[in-house]
Amino acid sequence: MAYNAGMTEIQPSRQVDLAIIGGGAAGVLTAINALRAAAPGQRIALFEPASAVAQGIAYATPWPEHLLNVPAGKMSGFPEQPGDFLDHLLARREAPEATLAEQYVPRLDYADYLQQRLAEAAAASAGTLQVVHDAVVSLQPQSGGHRFQQAEGANWQATQVVLACGNSMRPLPLPAGNALPPGKVVDAWDYDGVRMLAGDQDLAIIGTGLSMADCVVSLLAAGHRGRIHVLSRHALLPLPHAHGGTADFDPQPLLQLPLRARMRQLREHVRIAQAQGLPWQAVMDRIRPLGQALWRSLEEADQRRFLRHVVRYWDVHRHRIAESVHDQLMAVERSGQLQRHRARLDAVLVQDANLQVHGRGTPPFNVGALINATGVETRALGLRNPLLQQLLAEGHARPGPHGLGLDADPDSGQLHDAHGAPQPGLWLVGSLRIGTLWESLAIPELRVQAQQAARAAIA
Ligand SMILES: Cc1cc2nc3c(=O)[nH]c(=O)nc-3n(C[C@H](O)[C@H](O)[C@H](O)COP(=O)(O)OP(=O)(O)OC[C@H]3O[C@@H](n4cnc5c(N)ncnc54)[C@H](O)[C@@H]3O)c2cc1C
Repeated sequence: MAYNAGMTEIQPSRQVDLAIIGGGAAGVLTAINALRAAAPGQRIALFEPASAVAQGIAYATPWPEHLLNVPAGKMSGFPEQPGDFLDHLLARREAPEATLAEQYVPRLDYADYLQQRLAEAAAASAGTLQVVHDAVVSLQPQSGGHRFQQAEGANWQATQVVLACGNSMRPLPLPAGNALPPGKVVDAWDYDGVRMLAGDQDLAIIGTGLSMADCVVSLLAAGHRGRIHVLSRHALLPLPHAHGGTADFDPQPLLQLPLRARMRQLREHVRIAQAQGLPWQAVMDRIRPLGQALWRSLEEADQRRFLRHVVRYWDVHRHRIAESVHDQLMAVERSGQLQRHRARLDAVLVQDANLQVHGRGTPPFNVGALINATGVETRALGLRNPLLQQLLAEGHARPGPHGLGLDADPDSGQLHDAHGAPQPGLWLVGSLRIGTLWESLAIPELRVQAQQAARAAIA
C-alpha cells in the first residue's frame, strides 16, 4: 500500500524529533532513512503541500510518455541496495532483469516506488511518521531546536530539521510589465495544462532543455497538429544517451587540471574513445561519479568561467534523454513541425486571440499560447519560496557560491547562516546545494544526501 493523502493515522503532535520540509523524492528518501534508523518513540513529521508525497516536480507527471532520463538499473533510492528500484519493477512486470535495468521507464513508476518504500518503512519503524499536507512558511532556530510555522498557521517545534524544498521554475525572461493573459501561458511542469494545449494552433516553448522535450512528446502524444516553435539563447537541444559501455580511463588526473586544460583533456578522451568505437557518451559516463569532485576542485575563477562559457554545452552533454525521446524530437524537427529559434526573448505582444513573440535574433512569429520551459531556478535571490525568502531575509541562510542555491557545508549538508556558520540541527538536501556541489539534483546524489542527513538528524 502506498503512503498518501489521508493516511496519517497517528494522533498529530506539534513537537517532533525530526521535521522534513518538502515531500518530493529527496524529502521522502530522507523520511525512509530516518524511519529505518529511528529509536522507539522517535517522532518524524513530513511537510508537503501537494496531496501526494514522493512526486515533487519530476515524478508528478501522470503521462507515460515522460520517461526517466536515467536507466532503471541506476535509480535505486538507497546507496547500499543498488538494485532496489529494479526489484520494485520486477515485482510488477515481466521482463528479463538485464533488459529492464537498461530501460528508461515512465517517471510515474518512480513515485509509486518511493510511496511503497515509505509505507513499508513507516510500518516497520520503531518511530512514528506524520505527514502534514501543508507548506512551512517560516522557521526560527531556538535553543535546542527550531520553531516553525505552517501556512495555515499552526506552530511546531523540532529538534532537527531537514530542508528538502527542491526545485522551483524560473519565471519567463520577459521585461517587467510584459504581463500575459491567464490561460495563454502554461508552465512546462503543469503536465495536464500542456496536454490541453494540443490541437491546431501554433505554440511556442521558451527553453530548449529537458522540460521542452517533455512538452513536445506530450503534445505529440495528445495529437498536436500545429507548429511548435522552441526558443532559447543557444537553441541547443538535449542530446541522447547511447549504448556502448563506459570509457576505460582514469578520470582522477582531471581533478588536478584547471578548466581549460581539463576541457582539452576531456576532448582528447572522447577522441580516443571514438577511435575505439565508443560513443562520446561513454566518456561522460566515466566522469559522472566525479560530478561533485570536478566542481569542487575548480578554483573560484574557473568556476565562474565554467558558468559563463561552458555550462550550456556541459548541460546538454551531461543531462541527456532516452534515445526514443531524442528520435521523436529529431523527426518532428525534420518534418518542419518543430521550428528552433536561436534568440533572446524580448517581448510578447497580445494581438486579439494570438501572442506575437519577439526575440532578438529571429523574426517575430504568432502563436496561440506559450509554454514556460525555462527550467529550474538556481539563483538564491530568484527563489520564490516564502520559507527560503524568510530564512535569507533573517540571516538564517545565505546564497551559495556564485549566488547559486543556499550555502551549506559541502560534506555534512548543514545549512550555513548569513555569517557562514553551520547551524546545529538544520540540514539541506537536494538541488539547493548546487553552489557548493554543482551535481546535486539527480537521484544518485540525492540518495546519498538523504541518507547522510537522516542518519545525522535521527542520531
Ligand atoms: C522534469 C524533471 C525530470 C527529472 N527526471 C529525473 C530522472 O529521470 N532521474 C533523476 O535522477 N532525476 C531527475 N530529475 C531531477 C529531480 O530533480 C530529482 O530526481 C528529484 O525529483 C528532486 O526531488 P526533490 O525532492 O529535491 O525536489 P522536488 O521534486 O522539487 O520536490 C520538492 C518538494 O518540496 C515541497 N516544498 C517546497 N517548499 C516547501 C515548503 N516551504 N514547505 C513544505 N513543502 C515544500 C514541494 O511542494 C515539492 O513537492 C528530474 C527533474 C525534473 C524537473
